[in-house]
Amino acid sequence: MHEMGIASSVLDAVRTELTKYPGSRATKVGVRIGEWAGVDVESLRFCCEALIMDSDLTGLAVELDYRLRRNGCPQCGHEFAIQNYATQCPRCDCEHTVPLGGTELDISYIELDDGEDDGTSAP
Ligand SMILES: [Zn+2]
Repeated sequence: MHEMGIASSVLDAVRTELTKYPGSRATKVGVRIGEWAGVDVESLRFCCEALIMDSDLTGLAVELDYRLRRNGCPQCGHEFAIQNYATQCPRCDCEHTVPLGGTELDISYIELDDGEDDGTSAP
């Protein structure tokens, strides 16, 4: 299964991050998934949960951030989500807009808990 391999590499990345911070525990990982990355978000979520369960990463939350495909306009700088495959700029009608994303499949952040208050959490 495609998604199982992705889930596995996400967790591997978390473990790699953890080796840099001995004693820490991973609490949350964010994964960006573009509309065109060809990933089934729900099945990826299921795979992550299945792999985390009973592993050394128990308690890790996985945040899947689903991104629509977007283009940017080189003329007016407008950024827009693509609907119905229309890539023309809705603001200035420029036809030569460039893809900004939508095919990404990467880790946006990994939250670690080092057991100390680092002052970044809200009171
Ligand atoms: Zn434009």
